[in-house]
Amino acid sequence: MIAATPQRACGDCSLCCKLLRIASLDKPNGKWCSHCKAGKGCSIYESRPQDCRDFDCSWLTGQLGDAWYPLNAKLVVDMKGPWVMVHVDPGVPNRWREEPYFSQIQYWAAFGVDRGVWVLVFVKKRLRIILPNKELDVGEFSPGDHIMIGEIPTSGRRDWHAYIRKAKDIPPEERDKFVVS
Ligand code: SF4
Ligand code: SF4
Repeated sequence: MIAATPQRACGDCSLCCKLLRIASLDKPNGKWCSHCKAGKGCSIYESRPQDCRDFDCSWLTGQLGDAWYPLNAKLVVDMKGPWVMVHVDPGVPNRWREEPYFSQIQYWAAFGVDRGVWVLVFVKKRLRIILPNKELDVGEFSPGDHIMIGEIPTSGRRDWHAYIRKAKDIPPEERDKFVVS
């Protein structure tokens, strides 16, 4: 994608065109969009879908330091509502465990837990939820699924559980709610 903000510009980066799901193009996470041309970017820029027009990653909006430039980091971060979503290039699936990324991800998890902010790490559809005391591999997340996170009552150290509630198991009146604690 090619976009600009007062803070930054995408430059040669097009990584969101690979890592993000684009619903209107039926493009899955982690696969290059067929309209993205090497070294040239989007070949349908003027008529690209609204999903693409609306997306600015958190590096582009100035919320992250230079080390997070997606072209180099191989990570695209999208902070939206209660979510910090870290999309990882499947070519380097453990990139998020490297520094300086991992420490920052752990910080977000610890900072967010009492503020209703949750850290999600995606490699394609595979989702890990990062909690202050652990990470949970909750399997594949598909559109319409709900992410369920809750604190487990304990008398000692704090602990949490999380799982994916599949779309087919969600009654109509509960759809569009995203998190239930
Ligand atoms: S990942 Fe960010 S910097 Fe890269 S093209 Fe997309 S919006 Fe621009
Ligand atoms: S349509 Fe263009 S901007 Fe949208 S994902 Fe494809 S290449 Fe990127």
